[in-house]
Amino acid sequence: MTDIKFRSDMTVDLLAVTGVYPDERAIAEAARVSTLGKDTEPGEVEGLVRYLVRSHHTSPLEQVDFIFRIEAPIFVTRQIIRHRTLAINEESGRYRELEGVFYVPEEGRRLRQVGKTGDYEFTDFPEASAYAREVIQDQSGFGWDAYRSLLDAGVAKEVARMVLPVNLYSTMQVKASLHNWLRFITKRTFAYREKPQHEVAMVGDKIKAHLTEHFPVVVDEFDKTHKGDA
Ligand SMILES: Cc1cc2nc3c(=O)[nH]c(=O)nc-3n(C[C@H](O)[C@H](O)[C@H](O)COP(=O)(O)OP(=O)(O)OC[C@H]3O[C@@H](n4cnc5c(N)ncnc54)[C@H](O)[C@@H]3O)c2cc1C
Repeated sequence: MTDIKFRSDMTVDLLAVTGVYPDERAIAEAARVSTLGKDTEPGEVEGLVRYLVRSHHTSPLEQVDFIFRIEAPIFVTRQIIRHRTLAINEESGRYRELEGVFYVPEEGRRLRQVGKTGDYEFTDFPEASAYAREVIQDQSGFGWDAYRSLLDAGVAKEVARMVLPVNLYSTMQVKASLHNWLRFITKRTFAYREKPQHEVAMVGDKIKAHLTEHFPVVVDEFDKTHKGDA
């Protein structure tokens, strides 16, 4: 097993916030078009934004885009790709040699699934932690060695990658409107009704933190009015 690294974290870097303004004024400006700017004063941005979010008046939230660069294992990027309203470019294993960076769950990650399909929870299983981490690391190493040996034998990258496991990290650039990122976090964080996988929620939490930093009123009102939604 050579040249491989293990990580237990996710990267979500904010590349851009695009809109008439990079903050809540963009939402208010868009909404004011509806009334030709006659009904609200500049100081009323917060009240207007709260009203829009509370009333599910979502089109002004589509006037702002967030672009993120995400590094996550393939089993997480697969879940992200299911969201069709995201615009995505992902790293190619056909055109470049992949890097040997693999996900391994941190020691405190809950490992035992208890309950039935659709209604279960995860509980601590500390006696399996070291064993699970060891098996995952060993398998990552076997996969990586097989990948490198196929490349060394002259096999094309798009074929050699077939032996790699889904805990290999991938990189994607993802763009969506604020509205669609809010929809995303209802599915991919634990703050709402859904029960996402722990690892995709690590990404969802970081996305939510970026949204909150730039649009604190939107996220605050969204949380107040959408906690039961998914
Ligand atoms: C806990 C959890 C478990 C999951 N398990 C599985 C699983 O086992 N297998 C699996 O395949 N997926 C699974 N998913 C993925 C899930 O089924 C959705 O595909 C994913 O969450 C994207 O949700 P979305 O459709 O709301 O998002 P988006 O695809 O972003 O779409 C947002 C909304 O836009 C509309 N829309 C977008 N595209 C279309 C279209 N083509 N036609 C009509 N309306 C459209 C719909 O109203 C949709 O709700 C799971 C998701 C979660 C959160």
